[in-house]
Amino acid sequence: MESILVLTHADESGSALSKGSLEAVTAGKELAARLGASLVIGIVAADAKAAACVLASAGARLMGVSGEAFAQARYASDAAACEALCRAANSSIVVAPPGSRMARVAAGVAHRLGGVIDTHITALGGAECVEATRWFYRQRVEGTITRDARPWFLLLDAGTHTAFEGAMSDVHVEQVAVELPALRTSVNGFREPLKDAQTIRPDARLLFVAGAGWTKKQPDGETRAVRAGELILDFLRLTGASLGSSKSLVDQGGDGQPVLPFLTHMNQVGQTGSTPRHAKGLSTCCHGEEPHVVGWRFIGERRAISLDPNCGWTRGKADVVYVADAFQVMARVNELLAARKE
Ligand SMILES: Cc1cc2nc3c(=O)[nH]c(=O)nc-3n(C[C@H](O)[C@H](O)[C@H](O)COP(=O)(O)OP(=O)(O)OC[C@H]3O[C@@H](n4cnc5c(N)ncnc54)[C@H](O)[C@@H]3O)c2cc1C
Repeated sequence: MESILVLTHADESGSALSKGSLEAVTAGKELAARLGASLVIGIVAADAKAAACVLASAGARLMGVSGEAFAQARYASDAAACEALCRAANSSIVVAPPGSRMARVAAGVAHRLGGVIDTHITALGGAECVEATRWFYRQRVEGTITRDARPWFLLLDAGTHTAFEGAMSDVHVEQVAVELPALRTSVNGFREPLKDAQTIRPDARLLFVAGAGWTKKQPDGETRAVRAGELILDFLRLTGASLGSSKSLVDQGGDGQPVLPFLTHMNQVGQTGSTPRHAKGLSTCCHGEEPHVVGWRFIGERRAISLDPNCGWTRGKADVVYVADAFQVMARVNELLAARKE
């Protein structure tokens, strides 16, 4: 009989669980229900009891590690906290939330417990035994893994489960004592890139994709890369959308052609790029070829603006295609958005 531990931690506010943690709670609850297994939720936070208030209706035994040392992400304290929670819960399956904090320590903790780990898990299935699903080779091959070794750590990918929602209520949290090793790292704070500099926003509802057309010669024979950059950044500022790109556009820097300075290969969506998850997507100046559109697999509603009435988007890959000049359309869209903001 399996027993399940979901590891969670507080977000930057310190008093609430991170979104990834709440996604892991959903995954753990569903798995426990399917297997008829017991469920423990472990919380790492400055005040685990406060952070656990949302878990009153989760139907799980709650264990926590509390203290100032656990307010911040740091390998030594996080690994010690997770190890203590795993030993106290003694579960055969450990579900860990997405995010850098757990990604950093999960493999080390699995090793300390003599267990095994699989990462980038997108689904947990199986009625008789646990089956974990993940993508390989840039989302080209999907694999389902089963293992006999225990404890088995499963580090989830973000956005693969809905975040658990529960009414806030007082809860009982069993506090687990942790013997901290000597801490050589002190966390002085965070330095984040300016909002405008950070164009990849996994939590945004909208993905805005820029294609190579933005920097190509336009019908009047001119290139307008600077204007393109202004329109795109204005739109991102006004909407908070995440910025994706086609491969052709991000490759242009290496080819000595006009580039958009804020784009890197990290923005590339597609077969050899990323497969982001956003509710909606808007493609602009992009042809919609299969190696690009395959990266839109998890995008719900799709719209495109292209001058070419025969582009890939018009062939069933988008819900709505505007056959129009994206420079004109986006200038007008930005005007409307700015007016609405005022
Ligand atoms: C093995 C392999 C892997 C690949 N992996 C990827 C990948 O991961 N991601 C990816 O994106 N590609 C990938 N590609 C490349 C892919 O096949 C296409 O070449 C690429 O997506 C084309 O980019 P694009 O549509 O931006 O550029 P283009 O094909 O140059 O299209 C530009 C479009 O912009 C339109 N346009 C121009 N001006 C305007 C305007 N003013 N208003 C509106 N529309 C305008 C044009 O009509 C045209 O349709 C891969 C290819 C291979 C062979």
